[in-house]
Amino acid sequence: MADQEWRLAALCAQVDPEIFFPEKGGSVMAALRVCGRCEPWVRQACLADALAVEAELGGSPAGVRGGMTAKDREAILRQRRAAAREAA
Ligand code: SF4
Repeated sequence: MADQEWRLAALCAQVDPEIFFPEKGGSVMAALRVCGRCEPWVRQACLADALAVEAELGGSPAGVRGGMTAKDREAILRQRRAAAREAA
């Protein structure tokens, strides 16, 4: 579980989780500010975890994770899928 250590330092555990899932049209700024205060290694591990889970599950990402919005993570996942197709 060493690769899950970042969860112990996750600052989002100290705030209202709803700010990470704003309603449609709502602001993600509060969540991004919290992510911005996470240690860089925590943010990187968090983002890697989010992308791995979202790639495995398919569908569209939801909420703010690892300092990125769902839309930004979706763009990364799309690029990775396109790169994988080109490499195949
Ligand atoms: S980067 Fe954001 S979502 Fe990830 S652990 Fe930190 S506060 Fe939570």
